[in-house]
Amino acid sequence: MPAHNLPTNSGAKPTLAVFKFSSCDGCQLQLLNLEDELLTLVGAVEIAYFLEARRRVLPPPYDIGLVEGSISTPEEERRIRQVRRDCRYLVSIGACATSGGIQALRNWADVDEFIRCVYPSPEYIKSLETATPIAAHVFVDFELRGCPVNAEQLVELLSALLLGRKPNIPTHSVCIECKRRGYPCVLVTKGEPCLGPITQAGCGALCPRCERACYGCFGPMEQPNIRSLANQLKNEQGRTNREVKLALRQFNGYMEPFKQAGDYYERLEQKET
Ligand code: SF4
Ligand code: SF4
Repeated sequence: MPAHNLPTNSGAKPTLAVFKFSSCDGCQLQLLNLEDELLTLVGAVEIAYFLEARRRVLPPPYDIGLVEGSISTPEEERRIRQVRRDCRYLVSIGACATSGGIQALRNWADVDEFIRCVYPSPEYIKSLETATPIAAHVFVDFELRGCPVNAEQLVELLSALLLGRKPNIPTHSVCIECKRRGYPCVLVTKGEPCLGPITQAGCGALCPRCERACYGCFGPMEQPNIRSLANQLKNEQGRTNREVKLALRQFNGYMEPFKQAGDYYERLEQKET
């Protein structure tokens, strides 16, 4: 991790804060999993707020704020506004923070019914009707995709912020990574509903490497041709409109243009019935 160019008020090391909203903690753990780079990171920044890693908390303002998780409760709706005020650069990390995550599946359902089914005392649950990304509530300076985020991309992001340059994060598809590594295509050879052609790279084509279809955990690539893939799934694999909709509505189903396409195939499904 390079020395920083980020000017701070006091001339001291830039401060880093890591915040959790509705999430599983997996993206924060990627930060702790850095191992080799973690000590360098600790040397480059002052970790001022990171409850998953340490008890000591320094007061705001913070130079860099990383936010994991979606906004799913009224308390989170209020807290994210304060977090934005407290941070000079605010970056959302992971599928929950950048798209609403798997919990955003409730955005197409009756939340009250879910709460009644899951909790013995539903009156104690304070939940919004939707789970939404951080950028739907406050301005974010950058979004790092993935479920969880890729550790190398996290290092690149922090390096770029410290050096005052744009993070070099690829926006091409998982297929490019898959073909570069020479993995057999599960879409062609096994008839699997692989979302690799429309999903942003970042994982090293992890699932095709294990002979499984990609389910889109890095969200849509830049300008994805969703209709072309959907036609392939329907015409070549005999998938239904419902199956196409469900393939799109997974970890990043609430992120455009997956959301718009999922809604479109839902309308086609409804016309059939
Ligand atoms: S397996 Fe999936 S990611 Fe790999 S080339 Fe085929 S469609 Fe693309
Ligand atoms: S192949 Fe797709 S589902 Fe698997 S880790 Fe990569 S982006 Fe996620």
